Amino acid sequence: MTNKAIYLTFSVAAISFATLANATELELCGNMVQGGLVKGQAKNLQSVTQNGKNIPITNDGSFLLAFDRDAKSTQELVLKYQDGTGEKYHLNIAPTKWDIQRVNGVAQSKVTPAKSDNKEIEREGTSVNKAISQDLSKTPYWEQGFIEPLEKYRVSGEFGNQRIFNGIPKSPHRGTDMAAASGTPIKASADGIVKLSGGNFFYSGNMVIIDHGQGLHTMYAHMDTTSVKEGDKVKQGDIIGTVGKTGRATGPHLHWGATYNGTRFNPKNLLDINKNGLCKKVSTNK
Ligand SMILES: [Zn+2]
Repeated sequence: MTNKAIYLTFSVAAISFATLANATELELCGNMVQGGLVKGQAKNLQSVTQNGKNIPITNDGSFLLAFDRDAKSTQELVLKYQDGTGEKYHLNIAPTKWDIQRVNGVAQSKVTPAKSDNKEIEREGTSVNKAISQDLSKTPYWEQGFIEPLEKYRVSGEFGNQRIFNGIPKSPHRGTDMAAASGTPIKASADGIVKLSGGNFFYSGNMVIIDHGQGLHTMYAHMDTTSVKEGDKVKQGDIIGTVGKTGRATGPHLHWGATYNGTRFNPKNLLDINKNGLCKKVSTNK
């Protein structure tokens, strides 16, 4: 097994900074680990900040907390309520042991790009950043939960692995690689708005990026074909294209990625935010 993580280790220290007779209750659902994603819910929220950064809240008081691969072991969560009171929580993020993955047989031109490729690499970075930063949809489509984009696949690369291409260390992997035959249909993981489709990029090849609202995006890379266009509204399970090996890929696979307001997390954790078994209530007596 790879990427062993101790899930369900909710360790939270709450410090109330207002005096009030009632107890308030915060519910956290998901995996509080490096690369994790947690859904929080509380009543009468005014604002939520994670390490000082403001987090969007839905009308029913839900919000998301994402933790990147190298997230610090303690995170500060501050909830402020409509009555002017507030609470501070210290969340303990379980460490994850990341594996080293050696990938050989990669086209050398994609491992040590020529100077003449810089423009193309820059075009890819700019296009992806634009797609994940512009918030087209405020609708929290993510609340419905997520499904896997492929029905049958083999994991050929885990999120977070340190990768060595043809013997040369490269950036850690920021998605899940799902190997499947070329032409296998790819499904939208949840409802959303298509922010990018195609591109024929240097690393990602043809890709689709879907906006699920409030800064949550899923990404699908190395596609053979795409069958949606920018601005399209997609429903969960809609076919958005097919598996391929475009860009930096040694064989046909889907690179599935996820990002929340700039934080790249393990997309597998999207599947768990609506699982009751992974919820825990955190109470404090203010
Ligand atoms: Zn990948």
